[in-house]
Amino acid sequence: MKVCCHDCERTDVKLVERPRTIRSGMKNTVDVCVCCRNKWYKKHDLLLPRYNFTCPNCMFEQSADTSVAMRMGLNSGHGSCMNCDVFLHLEIIPDLKGSEMKATFWSNFIDKKPVGGR
Ligand SMILES: [Zn+2]
Ligand SMILES: [Zn+2]
Repeated sequence: MKVCCHDCERTDVKLVERPRTIRSGMKNTVDVCVCCRNKWYKKHDLLLPRYNFTCPNCMFEQSADTSVAMRMGLNSGHGSCMNCDVFLHLEIIPDLKGSEMKATFWSNFIDKKPVGGR
């Protein structure tokens, strides 16, 4: 059985499901490659299910699921680094190719008092 991406018709890719939440007139569960899925998410202005980020503490690269708040339009989430366990604030970077989050230390995010601005 030949398995290929519905959009780019490549056969050497890992296939994933398109999101079910969107009615596009197409079958929602058609299989596409990750790359095409990301394009598709962008086209429909959706958040990706996961974003990559780099821990500012240990520089470990990892990815995180989008939070409920993010899906509701509030670009703010949090999580712990898989590697060093530091607690982080996460924010989706809206430009770029759209698959990155910005991670900052949670403590910096919480006391965002202007430093030295007396
Ligand atoms: Zn594809
Ligand atoms: Zn870390």
